[in-house]
Amino acid sequence: MPELMVQIEGQPTPVRLADCFWVLTDGRGCASGSMVGHSAATEEAAHQDFTPRTRDRDRQTRQGWRVRLLSKEQWRQDAGPCFLGECQHRKVAA
Ligand SMILES: [Zn+2]
Repeated sequence: MPELMVQIEGQPTPVRLADCFWVLTDGRGCASGSMVGHSAATEEAAHQDFTPRTRDRDRQTRQGWRVRLLSKEQWRQDAGPCFLGECQHRKVAA
């Protein structure tokens, strides 16, 4: 299988999809799900994996949820704190 390369927002050079992470973020931008990059080839496919039911997906989209592809470094900065309960998103909402 050929190595899939992807261009990530804010990154100068393409990276291996296998080295990235798909992250599902809620309306506040807070990460609520994460999986390795090679689990899905597109945002839509990743969203389907995170949220299998179409109705739930549509509701999430309406509420501003997004699927983002992050490099390892971006994941550590943007998503890591969410899973540890230490991110800014939650503090703003509280
Ligand atoms: Zn967060």
